[in-house]
Amino acid sequence: MLQRKTRLSTDPTQPDATYAIDRWGMDLIRVLPDGDLGLRNPLKTNGPVVSLPTIIKDLDQSGVHAPVLLRVSSFLEHGIRSINENFNAAIERVGYRGEYRGVFPIKVNQQAQVIDRIVEFGRPYSFGLEAGSKPELVIALAHKLAPDSLIICNGVKDAEFIRLAILSRKLGFNTVIVLESPRELETVLEVVEELGEEPILGVRVKLTNQIGGNWAESSGDRSTFGMNTDQLVTVVDKLKASNMLHCLKLQHSHLGSQIPDVQDVRRAAGEACRYFVELTREGAPLSLLDLGGGLGVDYTGEKTATENSINYSVEEYCTNVVETVAYAMDEAGMTHPSLITESGRAVVATSSMLIFDVLEATLFDAQAAPVPEAEDHHLVQDLAAIAGYLGPDRLQECLNDATFYRNELRALFRRGYVDLRQMARSEQIYLHLMSQIKRLAPEPGTVPVIDSHLEQSADIYHCNFSLFQSLPDVWAIGQLHPIVPLQRLNEAPDRRAILSDITCDSDGKVDQFILSDGVSASLPVHSLKEDEPYYIGVFFVGAYQETLGDLHNLFGDTNVATIELREDGGFDLLHEQEGDTIAEVLSYVEYDPRDCIAAFRRIVDQAISDKALTAADRKALMAAYRDSINGYTYYE
Ligand SMILES: *Cc1c(COP(=O)(O)O)cnc(C)c1O
Repeated sequence: MLQRKTRLSTDPTQPDATYAIDRWGMDLIRVLPDGDLGLRNPLKTNGPVVSLPTIIKDLDQSGVHAPVLLRVSSFLEHGIRSINENFNAAIERVGYRGEYRGVFPIKVNQQAQVIDRIVEFGRPYSFGLEAGSKPELVIALAHKLAPDSLIICNGVKDAEFIRLAILSRKLGFNTVIVLESPRELETVLEVVEELGEEPILGVRVKLTNQIGGNWAESSGDRSTFGMNTDQLVTVVDKLKASNMLHCLKLQHSHLGSQIPDVQDVRRAAGEACRYFVELTREGAPLSLLDLGGGLGVDYTGEKTATENSINYSVEEYCTNVVETVAYAMDEAGMTHPSLITESGRAVVATSSMLIFDVLEATLFDAQAAPVPEAEDHHLVQDLAAIAGYLGPDRLQECLNDATFYRNELRALFRRGYVDLRQMARSEQIYLHLMSQIKRLAPEPGTVPVIDSHLEQSADIYHCNFSLFQSLPDVWAIGQLHPIVPLQRLNEAPDRRAILSDITCDSDGKVDQFILSDGVSASLPVHSLKEDEPYYIGVFFVGAYQETLGDLHNLFGDTNVATIELREDGGFDLLHEQEGDTIAEVLSYVEYDPRDCIAAFRRIVDQAISDKALTAADRKALMAAYRDSINGYTYYE
């Protein structure tokens, strides 16, 4: 685990030293000399770094306002090339006598703009698609894949799903039906009988090796997918009895997701190979070994086997897989199968980022305090007197006293002995004390009590996004994403803040940040300036976040822009997708927006007949209602 710290010293000349961009940025994200965060095209050596604030301002001028999900086409292409070229290189290096034919699992990002590009960038590598459900198979079959690309069908399948998969072979698709259970085979046999067509079959085998990390439960005995050895034997026998064993071409074992430790990859791949060998000995003409997903993303950049990091590179992962399989097959004297992986996260995570603006800040300190007056309540005067003995040696005492007087005053207020104005004065005095204490406080980690006090006094930056819609894993599983202000990175951050979203939910906040020396409960930020937007970016959100997000408080999809970074330091807008309007999100919860307008109009008309409204009021009210219903769900 990264050490948890509440504050850290920051070097103003070295923004990277604060946010550790060098460490996790994969050389895709860099700081420009003018303090802007920039994006570098990974497909071009020495390509220019394009300023992200400039991109956002340009998009804003062309009507694509924040919050915006920015997809960078070359980052996606880089992801596709990386997995394919690393596997091909490993195959060459190891002398493996089989090929790599990876597939992209559609569930990781189903958006048309993403899948279309994955298919296009993957075509030279015969990269295919994995479908875990009927809708995903429908998506896969709407794409022209390279002739020898695979479509792998996982998940629970009914007759309709199986029928479509089998029939699609007539169009030249290499669609593989991966059996998840003996019962599924029964359905397959019925459909085969009905169609008189043969399927390409696979079996999903449950590995007993438990894999570490956040998704440990998708591996091992208690995994909800795949068959155990007994079920596997049942399926083999049934296939033999039905004279169909020759259709069994693929063995599938999903290793897990975001596997932190590369040793687990080797162990699991080794176990998968054992099943491959045994099934071949049973007479199945297996030629495809599918190792599923699991290749991780180093969100924190630490290169350690922890939940949000990984202790290996893509190159190492590929080499480990290829070596393990080559060794196992050679040992069993078997032909090297084609290797398939279903890496989703590692292929798409880096290609999207969420950009939002800060709407306002709630500060938990004050630059100045009111001068105590004779009429002030004596506790207010006592509170103010703390400033007189505040010093580095008496911080703890001052914190204790300030907390005591503030609590006493609050109790008196509740009972009616102190008025609102006295409370406001005491609050200001308290906050001013806190800012003085912040300045005098020792390095974090030295005095835990002071750390926890200061954690309570970080600013709240209210940001224009919904955690539930755009960063569901941050809420659900404490996923860490790199988060950085997009501008002023050549200025020392002078504030610490947590980020709160615009839902009315106290969970709608981010309070874990990746910094150079640990995970911090607050983010170093800059004081907001009047009339100057302050943008913050959340990186590596391309995997899982878009579809897992929900409509909490009815905040819908954000605007989406797909861009390409140009050689001259500019960018091209390849595609834009407007976020949901209020009318759209209302229809998701079964309101008809036209009915809403009609119902509102009836209420307005009633007020007119009651003579409570003028005709001009009516016009203004109807216009305001209509503008809202047609507008963006976020702060405009
Ligand atoms: C989710 C899933 C994947 C993708 O896993 P990543 O860790 O994102 O690469 C691959 N295969 C199957 C069967 C899955 O369920």
